[in-house]
Amino acid sequence: MNVIIVGHIDHGKSTLIGRLVYDTGSLPEERIREIERISQELGHKLEFAFILDALEEERKGMMTIETTQTFFKTEKREYAIIDAPGHKEFIKNMVTGASQADAAILVVDAKEGVKEQTKRHAYFLKLLGIPKVIVVINKMDLVGYEEKPFENVKEDIVSYLKGIDLSPEFVIPVSAYNGDNVVKNSERMPWYEGPTVTQALDSLERVTSFFDFRFPVQDEYEINGEKVYVGNILSGSVKEGEIVKCYPEGYEVTVNKILNATYAKAPAAIGIATDKPLKRGYILGKGSEPLVTKNISSLVFCLSGNLKKGESYTLRCVTQEVKCKIKEITERIDVETLEKTTQIDELKEVEIGKVELELEKPAVFEKFNTLKELGRFVLLERGKIIAGGIVTNGVKEHDSHFRL
Ligand code: GDP
Repeated sequence: MNVIIVGHIDHGKSTLIGRLVYDTGSLPEERIREIERISQELGHKLEFAFILDALEEERKGMMTIETTQTFFKTEKREYAIIDAPGHKEFIKNMVTGASQADAAILVVDAKEGVKEQTKRHAYFLKLLGIPKVIVVINKMDLVGYEEKPFENVKEDIVSYLKGIDLSPEFVIPVSAYNGDNVVKNSERMPWYEGPTVTQALDSLERVTSFFDFRFPVQDEYEINGEKVYVGNILSGSVKEGEIVKCYPEGYEVTVNKILNATYAKAPAAIGIATDKPLKRGYILGKGSEPLVTKNISSLVFCLSGNLKKGESYTLRCVTQEVKCKIKEITERIDVETLEKTTQIDELKEVEIGKVELELEKPAVFEKFNTLKELGRFVLLERGKIIAGGIVTNGVKEHDSHFRL
């Protein structure tokens, strides 16, 4: 299960990760001893944020690994913690699909309470459709392990989350530093009867979605004089000899051969031979019709620079790349207050808005809630990603994404 840990800076994300890794015994003995030794030399007790730094240093040395991940194991399963080095990287990774989180832990400092980044991160968890969220109220030791301050912060965060139509699975009082309620139940908070962080994680069911066959063509090769098209199946399955449709045009194509298989299902990278020539950017599909359109309604978050009404950008959605123009920015949303401003001309860095896009030619999409990979896109300017968005075409007023 992939877990992302987010929250305001200094609220204890690294410490919590270190504690999770340490208390679940997921670190090799020698590693622990080394960290203990260094901590002693530095003159304080085991510093858990340090475990994470040490692991990070190690990973930096291993140039072959692209995405950095930390792992820990419970009796039930293995967890990979997805790194969220900074707010922008976090959003960028989520939008581009570099990270796929099954669950998120939102860390809030019990003493400082809900801060700007707490809200921003929570908003993006909702926006990006992270299915399960656990709230950890950390640093309980700083408020005397008392129930009252916990309840106050809990009320604040739960009420913000409610405003974006998100309800956390659990809200857990924790001291990551001392190890209370992270892996082991704490005796210092007898008033709390819920699960520890690992118990809460273990109780979550993985959400797997099933959908019709969708296969974006990524590349073509020639093997023994025969054209082979490769790519990742995003959803569904395909059999040798099957007739599928090729979008955006929608004509029929026979899958004559699947390399090294007669049947393949998502998630899988495959190579296929077909009766008609294909090219990068085409999407093969089966079953329901995808959304094929030149007009996109979307929620867009600006990652760098400015997004201007009337300007042209390149839209990329899986292997599709197409020029597009911003027709209108109908709304800007203040993530902190959830207030809205209508009819604006540009979105600046870190701003979010509702944007109408017109593509130069039709491209293939799905609703974000149906199939994330085809429901999200990035906008590029001179080859650089400057914004990310999710498709909201056909999303009704009462759908929670629209309300955002
Ligand atoms: P991050 O920026 O969210 O990753 O926060 P860190 O894990 O680096 O923690 C920031 C500071 O808070 C560090 O000095 C930690 O030692 C401290 N800290 C983290 N968790 C706790 C806790 O449970 N109790 C106390 N008292 N301090 C904590």
